[in-house]
Amino acid sequence: MKQYLPRQLTELVKAISEQAAGQGQRVYLVGGIVRDMLLGYPNFDIDLVVEGNAVKLAQQVAVTSQAGLLVHRRFGTAKLRYDNFTLDLATARKETYARPGVLPTVTPGTLKDDLFRRDFSINAMAISLASNDYGELIDPYNGGSDLERGVIRIMHPDSFNDDATRILRGVCYEQRFGFGFEAETGRVLERDITILDTISGDRIRHELEHIFEEERPELVIKRLGELGVLHAINPSLKSNGWIFEKFDKARSLKKPTQLLSLYFCLLIYAFSEKDLEQFLTRLNMPAKLSRAMRDTLGIQDRLPLLEKLSLKPSEIYYLLQDYQLLAIRANAIASESATIRRHLQLFLAKLRYVRTSLDGEELERLGISTGPEMGKVLRILHKAKLDGEVKTRADEESLVLSLKAGDFPNDPESPWG
Ligand code: ATP
Ligand code: MG
Repeated sequence: MKQYLPRQLTELVKAISEQAAGQGQRVYLVGGIVRDMLLGYPNFDIDLVVEGNAVKLAQQVAVTSQAGLLVHRRFGTAKLRYDNFTLDLATARKETYARPGVLPTVTPGTLKDDLFRRDFSINAMAISLASNDYGELIDPYNGGSDLERGVIRIMHPDSFNDDATRILRGVCYEQRFGFGFEAETGRVLERDITILDTISGDRIRHELEHIFEEERPELVIKRLGELGVLHAINPSLKSNGWIFEKFDKARSLKKPTQLLSLYFCLLIYAFSEKDLEQFLTRLNMPAKLSRAMRDTLGIQDRLPLLEKLSLKPSEIYYLLQDYQLLAIRANAIASESATIRRHLQLFLAKLRYVRTSLDGEELERLGISTGPEMGKVLRILHKAKLDGEVKTRADEESLVLSLKAGDFPNDPESPWG
């Protein structure tokens, strides 16, 4: 543990443990960090379980170590925020599920109870931080041996029935670590796929986002496809070679801003509008991303127009100006036509930034009256600038003067109707 954690963190968790002892409580490191420590993978997402009262402990630690404090009293959890990291503290608890899909009833419990409520044995290990057995691994459910054998195993046969998001989480770990499901777990998983119907849209979406944070989410998507999980979420969801190629391309872009959202747009690229609406409703997708996903399909209707070789820059601009950038990026990755990709790239890299040099005030000085006339002149200038017909401020001024002389071309707004 000393080699794994940065010194600053080791000292902090030690200090927390001492304060816990002062309050008659015990503290443990749990979950992903224990698993990753044994695997030798970096992970500084620190989860602590407190046998006793995590909120009380966190309140004291926040004062002594000058941390920001966020408390969820109802869940008995607290978050301590430091400059470069956060620590999560949770009161050890026992969970019982009344029905599939609903949130569990929670009561205080022992560490062992708390480990038993977890998703998989490899996530159900703890490390003691108490002074008498500091650093000792606590592994009542043989997670260590599963980790060595490369096995994903649920804690009990009702696990997926209690919480079917564990199906998605399990496949995620399986693919991340190159592990396999233990035989019984695999069998129960396939049996319980329909239980996913009981899971809320927010929770399914949250797990998909978790998957999209993986290094190669397409591996997880493919496996979910093979198991029939994708079909259970939406019958049109498929994983194929196309997804592999396009996800990889999305990652290789120099600036993968919004990679997660881009994956969502690529995932539904082959959907009909109706399938998409079903999917958006099922996942309770937020408004902005919903719009980008709708635009991703909307742009596809315009691709034949964008395939013309002889398009003027302004024509490209008017075809794309009303769509979300994310949707244009998704199409630039998805389209198989070099011409279309070139046109979309031109919009993204250049056309969307084009502005006229003259503004309204300057046009007024040149004798253009505010109102519809001004709007029209600005649009004509913008179009001329997009198409390279005017370059300098002087060019724009002479164009304005020629317009005033009565030489008005058609208003370029929306030539496509
Ligand atoms: P990752 O590296 O993917 O973040 P993690 O193990 O840290 O893995 P988190 O999603 O951060 O996973 O959750 C922290 C811990 O909480 C897990 O290790 C697991 O023990 C427990 N956990 C999370 N979600 C569930 C769930 N749906 N059911 C049971 N236990 C869960
Ligand atoms: Mg984590």
